Amino acid sequence: MVGAGINGLCVAFHLVRLGARVVIVDQHDDGHPHGSSHGEERITRSSYEHPRWVADMQRCHAEEWPMLEELLGERLVHRGGDAVFFGPEGGRIGEYARAVSEAGAQVDELDPSDARRRFPAFTFADSARVLHDRSAGVLAAAATIRGLGRWLASKGVEVRRPFAVERVESRHGGIAVVGPSVIQADFAVLTVGPWVRRLVPGLAVRPARQHVGYWQFPLAKAGHFPAWVRLGVDELHYGLPTIAGGEMKAAFHDHGAGPGHDADELVPPSEVALQAVESRLREWFVAGVGPLARRETCFYTNAEDDQFLSSWTSDRVYTVSACSGHAFKLGPLTGRRAAEAVWFRAR
Ligand SMILES: Cc1cc2nc3c(=O)[nH]c(=O)nc-3n(C[C@H](O)[C@H](O)[C@H](O)COP(=O)(O)OP(=O)(O)OC[C@H]3O[C@@H](n4cnc5c(N)ncnc54)[C@H](O)[C@@H]3O)c2cc1C
Repeated sequence: MVGAGINGLCVAFHLVRLGARVVIVDQHDDGHPHGSSHGEERITRSSYEHPRWVADMQRCHAEEWPMLEELLGERLVHRGGDAVFFGPEGGRIGEYARAVSEAGAQVDELDPSDARRRFPAFTFADSARVLHDRSAGVLAAAATIRGLGRWLASKGVEVRRPFAVERVESRHGGIAVVGPSVIQADFAVLTVGPWVRRLVPGLAVRPARQHVGYWQFPLAKAGHFPAWVRLGVDELHYGLPTIAGGEMKAAFHDHGAGPGHDADELVPPSEVALQAVESRLREWFVAGVGPLARRETCFYTNAEDDQFLSSWTSDRVYTVSACSGHAFKLGPLTGRRAAEAVWFRAR
């Protein structure tokens, strides 16, 4: 396994459960902030524009996350706050409404005036439609990463760090993973997030650095306050309450055009981007948005149409670039599918 973000750890988790012997390597230290999986929380939801993803998320909520919570012995999904999706006609809200209704998800469509009564902190300014996702919640992302690491260690899985892989190549009928030393294996699974084109040069993905802020917001506590996504005509803006409470994490989806999107460059969070997020927050909330408390950057690895890539990129190399800005919640299922693909090819 190359890469110890959520996808690498989930693939390793399922491979070990199937009976495989696994070694994980990562170029950075545990808990590093340079990729996509750091930070305390992520949104989970069933609302999506493609019925296939709605169905995948229904499975994640019914089976994958509960199994992970049971095996890791801790609460990873903070429910109770739900989520709201809103936006004007002409944005993607119509596609979301269609997809969730087709899949029979736990999502209700509310008239904006009913939504204002139900969620009085929100203005729902300019929104023609509001979806209330009752399956949604906040994932304890850092706790999931730590828990998977502990579980893998308890099964004897070694994580070698720092171990930067330069290339993977066919050797001796198997695969050589070449870095500070050479690891010979039957198969390699690459889950290297925004660095994926270094190891798989032709892959049609584009890393996109995100600028994320945490604003003081007294009401915002996971399990009590909704996560939200504002689906504009050509922008997506989202936020979620923190698990500790008292802050709202929020950002735009940045599609990654222009410079500044190389994951090896150290670029601080952009004040201009965060000011734009803040001014939109003041439109979506009646009151309560306090000063910016913290900021960070994080990476999406965008594929065409926000899709995920998870497939064989050579005979013995399976690549998971399931990272188009919204893949944490799907990690346990993506990991299961990738692990099964490798396990069955090995049989
Ligand atoms: C701001 C932000 C908000 C998000 N919000 C949500 C959300 O609310 N809900 C949701 O479901 N998802 C969300 N996501 C998406 C989700 O976090 C990512 O899709 C997911 O974390 C991707 O994980 P990964 O394991 O593929 O990549 P990463 O976490 O980037 O892991 C890749 C790992 O590979 C290692 N690596 C890379 N190259 C090499 C090499 N050559 N040798 C050795 N190691 C290497 C890196 O060091 C890294 O540790 C968000 C993402 C961001 C950035």
